[in-house]
Amino acid sequence: MAGAPALKHWRTTLERVEKFVSPLYFTDCNLRGRLFGESCPVAALSCFLTPERLPYQEAVRQDFSPAQVGYSFGPTWWTCWFRVELTIPEAWVGQEVHLCWESDGEGLVWRDGEPVQSLTKEGEKTSYILTDRLGEGDLRSLTLYVEVACNGLLGAGKGSMIAAPDPEKTFQLSRAELAVFHRDVHKLLVDLELLLGIAKGLGEDNQRSFQALYTANQMVNVCDPAQPETFPVAQALATRFFGQRGGESQHTIHATGHCHIDTAWLWPFKETIRKCARSWVTAVQLMEQNPKFIFACSQAQQLEWVRNHYPGLHARLQEFACRGQFVPVGGTWVEMDGNLPGGEAMVRQFLQGQNFFLQEFGKMCSEFWLPDTFGYSAQLPQIMRGCGIRHFLTQKLSWNLVNSFPHHTFFWEGLDGSHVLVHFPPGDSYGMQGSVDEVLKTVANNRDKGRTNHSAFLFGFGDGGGGPTQTMLDRLTRLGNTDGLPRVQLSSPKQLFSALESDSGQLCTWVGELFLELHNGTYTTHAQIKKGNRECERILHDVELLSSLALARSAQFLYPAARLQHLWRLLLLNQFHDVVTGSCIQLVAEDAMCHYADIRSHGNTLLSTAAAALCAGEPGPEGLLVVNTLPWKRTEVLALPKPGGAHSLDLTPSPGDSAQHGLCSCSCPYLAAAPAAPAACVRSARGSCRLSLAAPFTKTDGSVTLDNGIIRVRLDPTGRLTSLVLVASGREAIAEGAVGNQFVLFDDVPLYWDAWDVMDYHLETRKPVLGQAGTLAVGTEGGLRGSAWFLLQITPNSRLSQEVVLDVGCPYVRFHTEVHWHEAHKFLKVEFPARVRCSQATYEVQFGHLQRPTHYNTSWDWARFEVWAHRWMDLSEHGFGLALLNDCKYGASVRGSVLSLSLLRAPKAPDATADMGRHEFTYALMPHKGSFQDAGVIRAAYSLNFPLLALPVPGPAPATSWSAFSLSSPAVVLETVKQAETSPESQSRALVLRLYEAHGSHVDCWLHTSLPIQEAILCDLLERRNPAGHVPLQDNRLKLTFSPFQVQSLLLVLQPPPN
Ligand SMILES: [Zn+2]
Repeated sequence: MAGAPALKHWRTTLERVEKFVSPLYFTDCNLRGRLFGESCPVAALSCFLTPERLPYQEAVRQDFSPAQVGYSFGPTWWTCWFRVELTIPEAWVGQEVHLCWESDGEGLVWRDGEPVQSLTKEGEKTSYILTDRLGEGDLRSLTLYVEVACNGLLGAGKGSMIAAPDPEKTFQLSRAELAVFHRDVHKLLVDLELLLGIAKGLGEDNQRSFQALYTANQMVNVCDPAQPETFPVAQALATRFFGQRGGESQHTIHATGHCHIDTAWLWPFKETIRKCARSWVTAVQLMEQNPKFIFACSQAQQLEWVRNHYPGLHARLQEFACRGQFVPVGGTWVEMDGNLPGGEAMVRQFLQGQNFFLQEFGKMCSEFWLPDTFGYSAQLPQIMRGCGIRHFLTQKLSWNLVNSFPHHTFFWEGLDGSHVLVHFPPGDSYGMQGSVDEVLKTVANNRDKGRTNHSAFLFGFGDGGGGPTQTMLDRLTRLGNTDGLPRVQLSSPKQLFSALESDSGQLCTWVGELFLELHNGTYTTHAQIKKGNRECERILHDVELLSSLALARSAQFLYPAARLQHLWRLLLLNQFHDVVTGSCIQLVAEDAMCHYADIRSHGNTLLSTAAAALCAGEPGPEGLLVVNTLPWKRTEVLALPKPGGAHSLDLTPSPGDSAQHGLCSCSCPYLAAAPAAPAACVRSARGSCRLSLAAPFTKTDGSVTLDNGIIRVRLDPTGRLTSLVLVASGREAIAEGAVGNQFVLFDDVPLYWDAWDVMDYHLETRKPVLGQAGTLAVGTEGGLRGSAWFLLQITPNSRLSQEVVLDVGCPYVRFHTEVHWHEAHKFLKVEFPARVRCSQATYEVQFGHLQRPTHYNTSWDWARFEVWAHRWMDLSEHGFGLALLNDCKYGASVRGSVLSLSLLRAPKAPDATADMGRHEFTYALMPHKGSFQDAGVIRAAYSLNFPLLALPVPGPAPATSWSAFSLSSPAVVLETVKQAETSPESQSRALVLRLYEAHGSHVDCWLHTSLPIQEAILCDLLERRNPAGHVPLQDNRLKLTFSPFQVQSLLLVLQPPPN
């Protein structure tokens, strides 16, 4: 009888089936060769090329020239629009007809003025269904447009994916025709491929594997590709196999469609807008055809782009969101980097994101979604919880180079003790295809099997690949419940997490940061982007604070809410995980710098406006308003503008003219007009000004000593630090026999990911940069400020100049640094060997700090040879320590007693120009008695990053200084003061304050305010009132209680304006 298996040879049987479905071999007679039937050319094809990304309406009005298959177009980043006129032959009535289209680049089909589907070879989308069954009277003639972007799925790298783009690439149209599609053949192919996958995946020890193989073999026996009437018999064999159910203990795989789209990376932001349209329109088409298909989509910014550029598509997304098929996830504005954004910016990612999701899709997201980011701050659990989120999905830690992370499903405990439930899809990918292989890997790889019986499975081509395909869905649906395999169901992330939550009794807990043991160069690459990030975070902080004060004090002032939202969104956009990290191409870096320039210029305008409002009503000559935007008293030397654009430091106090004050004591936190805080008070408080340097301390060997009575700094003739003494105790901070401020250069050649990775072995190439004696000279001569400066030739191509500055009253010495950097694959750091011994160093993170080891005991320790920090790091032993502060750096390390700050890298891919050119940055060194908390290191780092503002105002500054807010505990930081986003009682006259506990302690704290407050209510990070959060106001004070690193938000309703 035909079809009876005669032989028992595993390999020949398997390969026979493989050849039957092969797209390469025997397609003249195998099943694959029958997938398409008759074909015919399109009736007419024409096109036009443009360097612009034109809207459809404009594009179709252009002059199209005739084109044929084989046509070449380009160059990179251009767009070719094709007009495709087609007529389906009458003879194809009853058949499924496709437009088969193969071209390089990324295509989008437009039909009747709306985008309908992507056509991207790399994303396995090469045919567009014209009709699934041509009817007798159906329209057979049609005109379509195909918009082809001249870039690949992953940009246009010259030679390798992450190489800088090749601007001269050409693209080719290789197929454009109509063809009859045989759906029954497709179904058999899906089944046979799955059976092959099961046979191979389960292997020769498994009986189910043989059942799969022999079922496939039987199907080949009974199926004659040339005779479709034989197909049902083969189909029935497959149905019987897949219908044999699994048992109750089966693992469940929750398959969710996804398309990870990098908001900018190897292509510019503007191309991402089209990538979103191409991908999501394809997902919508699949949702229409597969009512159970669920697609998870993150990043509010991308949805906003689509809303603005493709309103029709946006409406469809809203419609499918209502049906539960299109599921917005993540809650954030973009999938930001998990390390570098400041605490407040992290909060704003959620605030902007969640509000957008609520506004456009009627609800907020219930899970944080960050599959592809280079590490996750220990403060994220608290921030998530404060934004209504208890679940988190990522998988990037599977990229760890050294240690394999021990869990796939676990509770993550943050810095403050907040918990979230985390899941890493155990298949270690967010771009699955639905193969048996991946399904088996998902279970085999799962480190929590036995503890929980559920796993996520994200499928679909990312980055413009259009997400999932029908074939993927067909595979996953067929695998629904089959003995020998895990159960597969199409689920939403919410269904996944509910299942995990109800099955969470045996899960483990991970405490602290999720550190990625890879991509540690991203803390340093593209220093200008990092600097823009830090600076713009500061500008927006200051603008919000001043505008809030103006709002509280002036009935006329209009809070610039819309402008601030726009500027915040630009900042948040740049915090995308391939932008702020510096792992993007040059085009993206240029756009990012434009975004920062916008924030700087508009931010400064807004600062002036708010300052003017604060000074309004008092006629007189123009003045200067000196503002302290930090919530504690401080005394600083301030450079004030003089007529003609120069700056002045050293003028004598003159209370009548604020522009004359070189030194301003802001005795009142937040706001102090210079006239009210004359320099004299500093002199009296500190006695005589003891700052001295240069002549009295220049030794014959050319070394220079700076001394302000608090610290004494000695620099050797090349600018290195030979001594740093806390004057009061005489305690030396620099290790014996060592020198600080030592620049060191490393070879920096990673294994592949150039902009991303600095490898452990770079440490073996350390070369100290040695200067020439005699280059050190005295800069500022003393009085309020003393400085010395020097030049250092780093290499024949790169040089550095530095001014070492010590101000009166200042507990730290600053190093203003300028570098002209022209290197390839070199890494510049600066080192400070400390006379301090401790096995842990402390690093600032968002709203707090954490410890990391200073030794390489275990693989988990040495894998953190390069770490990230925000504004400060500290190495302390009992009673004494040394802190290293910075104004725009993020890469750091402490090994043994050496504190090291990472300054500049020189990777060449994907941006060959990254970091080349001029840089300016400042770091500072602060030796201290006691703990860093008691010594005020945190405040010092804030001061370095938030200098006193001296703002020119049209009238005189207020004659008396005043303070808006102050706190009774040094442990609590008032981080943010802003207008409430939406407060029910008033859209405009409510403020939100964000405070956090910075020392790591339980503390009660009084917040004092001079603003007219009517009511104070605790709220969450999304500014939603805590129903039990009413805080009584007593004599303009209110009491707050904090636990370690707790972040609290307070809604302050202002009293109505006087009239
Ligand atoms: Zn990504």
